[in-house]
Parts: sequence; structure tokens; C-alpha cells
Amino acid sequence: AAPPTSHQEEAESPAEAERGLEERDEDELEELPTAIISRKVSQTSVYLQEWDIPYEQLQLGELIGKGRWGKVHKGRWHGEVAIRLLEVAGDQQEHLKLFKKEVMNYRQTRHDNVILFMGACMVPPHLAIVTSFCRGATLYSMVRERAATLDLNRTRQIARDIVNGMSYLHAKGIVHKDLKSKNVFYHTNKVVITDFGLFGMSGLVQQGRKKTVLRIPHGWIYYLAPEIVKQMGPEVDEDQLPFSKAADVYAFGTVWYELHSGGWPLASQPVEAKIWLLGSGEGVRKELADANLGKEITEIVSTCWSPEASARPTFSQLAGMLERLPKLNRRLSHPGHF
Ligand code: ADP
Ligand code: MG
Repeated sequence: AAPPTSHQEEAESPAEAERGLEERDEDELEELPTAIISRKVSQTSVYLQEWDIPYEQLQLGELIGKGRWGKVHKGRWHGEVAIRLLEVAGDQQEHLKLFKKEVMNYRQTRHDNVILFMGACMVPPHLAIVTSFCRGATLYSMVRERAATLDLNRTRQIARDIVNGMSYLHAKGIVHKDLKSKNVFYHTNKVVITDFGLFGMSGLVQQGRKKTVLRIPHGWIYYLAPEIVKQMGPEVDEDQLPFSKAADVYAFGTVWYELHSGGWPLASQPVEAKIWLLGSGEGVRKELADANLGKEITEIVSTCWSPEASARPTFSQLAGMLERLPKLNRRLSHPGHF
């Protein structure tokens, strides 16, 4: 296949990229003059081929867990890896397109705080995403099991890593859409963000779902910005919800809240009340006041949870805010904090 020729070609529209993906057919191309080849094999498909892992090469190990996007296995492929198997039903060509679009997002991420994407199995029915295996714990279990060992210097460092990884993804035009403490791993003083972009594949795994019932996976709602909660309904597909960079910032606010309070806000309320309180954007404010986290920490949660998306800071602004937090050896304004 033709090698990449210029940077401009990379900026092709997603629609063109899609066409390129479909038209991959090396046997046929060998017969064609070079000019036609470079037009026919878009750069996209060339790049995707580099990330294709034949399913047979993977050694599937123990099942680690099952989330809404299918099963995650520990496995081996040139060492230890995590393998996310996607169970697809229905129109495979449609799914393959969606899947490849997400893989396109993954392949262009290189940041210390973002999971290492190693490749994908792209031949149906075996669709899988292969990433590095994260040792250590998720922030979810860490804040619930070891809250006492998390002092402000530590939480600030964790938050700074998340903010760096997130501002990198946003600079790349990638909206995470599922930032939550279960998707952030912490190991040897380093944060790794996982599972961004999988929402683009909701259509792929949600076939046959009932259009009369609104299903909200456990623990999801705490990370959803009010503009998203307001749009949710049985008729609305998840990939149609108004995710945005600002909605990612809202979700970060919840992670920051968890880091200091050791759990989710409003956890004791019944689900109907949560939807109402979170959807109105105001319900969490009282909770926040009651949580007594200290002025500086509360200010960051509060600005990330702004009901108006435009009032939320960007991740670059958050980096500055974290930098300005007082160091542990100075007293915070809230005397009970230490
Ligand atoms: P969730 O994020 O809601 O926990 P997932 O489907 O993303 O659901 O993950 C299923 C399980 O696999 C979880 O226990 C998660 O911690 C684990 N897991 C996911 N990705 C990795 C990874 N790269 N390395 C190690 N464990 C992982
Ligand atoms: Mg996950």
C-alpha cells in the first residue's frame, strides 16, 4: 500500500476516512497505477492496518470484569495486556465502521497519563481493543479503601495527572465521555486514564434495548452534567446525548469530590431524587456545603459542577487552580481538614 505522503492528507474528513476504510483491498490495488492507488487507499486505512492484531495472536486469559462495553480479559500479546472484547449483533458492516472510527481515535494518543493503546482486532466477529494492562487499583477502590492515606499533596498530584491527560485528549479533539473513578488507575505514583471514546460504540452494543425504559447503569449519574441528565430518556440513544469537553470537566469535578469525601455525592438519595437533583444542577450544591471539604477544595468542585457548561473551567485552567492550592505544610482555611 502507498506510504503516507503529506500531513495534509491526514486532515481528511471523517466521511472520507470512512470510505478509505471500506475500500481496503490490496489484491485489487496491486494492478492499479500509483496515482490511483494513492487516491484509493486513504492514509487512514494505511494507518489502521498498522494497528490490526490478528485475533489468533492473542492469548485470552482470565476474565477481569464486564462493563457496558463487553468483557475485559487479562491476556498476553508480547507480554501482559488487557483485551476488551466487543460483543456485536446485527449489521456487522455498520458496526465495523463505528468500531474503526474509535480505533482511529485511540491510535493517535501518546501521553504518560493516557492508557497505552496497542492495537485492535478488526475482523468480525472478533472485535477487540488491546491496551496495556493496568496494575494497581482504580481510583474508585482507592478512595473507598484507603481514603485515610490520601492527603492533599497526594490528591493534588493525582488530580494534576488526570488534568494533564484530559487536557491532552481535549487538545486532540477527543471527548472522553466516560470519565469516572473506575476508569482511572493509580499505580506507582502514576495515574492512567482508560476507556475514552467507547461511547461512540454505544449503538454497537445497545441493539435491541427497550425504548420504553430508561436504564441508568449504577454509578453513572454522578458524573453526568445537568445538560446531559436533562436530555436522557427512554427514546434517546446514549450516543446522541450532548457530551462535550465541558461535560468531561463536570465529571472531573465528581472525581475530585470523591478523592476528598471518599464516595459519591447524594449517595443516600433514591434514584428519582438523584435524577431531579442532579438534573437541576442545584441539588449538589447543598450536598457540597454539607460535605465540609474546606474552601479551596470546594471551590474546585463547585466550578466544575457549574450548571452552565460555559461557566466551567477548561482542563488547562484547572491545572492552574490545582497549582495554586496551598501546600500541605500550610494550613488550609478549613481548620478541621487535617
Ligand atoms: P468499568 O469501567 O465500569 O469498571 P469496564 O468494562 O471498563 O467497566 O471494566 C471491566 C473490568 O476490567 C474492571 O474491573 C476494570 O477495572 C478492568 N479493566 C478495564 N481496563 C483495564 C486495563 N487496561 N487494565 C486492567 N484492568 C482493566
Ligand atoms: Mg472502564
